[in-house]
Amino acid sequence: MDFIIDPPIRSFVSIVDSTRYFPVNRVFCVGRNYAEHAREMGHDPNREPPFFFMKPGDAVHDISDTWPYPPQTDNLHYECEMVVYISKSGKNIEVDDANGYILGYGVGLDMTRRDLQGQAKKMGRPWEWGKVFDCSAPCGPVHLLAGGNPVVSGKIWLKVNGELKQTGDISELIWSVPEVISIISQSMTLKAGDIIMTGTPAGVGPVVRGDKITAGIEGLGDIETIVV
Ligand code: MN
Repeated sequence: MDFIIDPPIRSFVSIVDSTRYFPVNRVFCVGRNYAEHAREMGHDPNREPPFFFMKPGDAVHDISDTWPYPPQTDNLHYECEMVVYISKSGKNIEVDDANGYILGYGVGLDMTRRDLQGQAKKMGRPWEWGKVFDCSAPCGPVHLLAGGNPVVSGKIWLKVNGELKQTGDISELIWSVPEVISIISQSMTLKAGDIIMTGTPAGVGPVVRGDKITAGIEGLGDIETIVV
């Protein structure tokens, strides 16, 4: 094909113990998927069906030693999340079949300009400017199906400068990974290369330049970066 400009290079994520990479298509993010986090954001976790927002695929990148503080915010928040990597396309996927669409799992950060998100909410506008900016979804490497079994539990945590800020367990997800896959696929075709950020536990808060973020999920390794 003869492109009028160079086609954009797709983002990718490393894979544990492999020289291959996962090519990123779209990024689906689940809102308020842990009860304590829903409460800290001022919502009742028991009465809300799941809702989604998206980041562009190029927000995702392998996490590295430093991470660039974005422009136009004075309240930049971390959100540690389990990330699910989709291996094949499907529509109207049954919950019982959903694990068959998962290539692997990893640790990721849904970095958020909370001030811009808050203004958008107040004005009834889309959240995007709060959630979408360069490098807004740094991710650790993909663990291919984490040993063959679906990940349904395991501690999830995040520290800033060594101080524990977020803690939870994957078993506390209000909407499980298979349910989320099924629900998304009823609304549009889920595609190979899509990523799902499954939501963050309670304890979100700000970071500033110079802060060291470390985060991890039991069985899926740890990630670390310094905000610059
Ligand atoms: Mn999030």
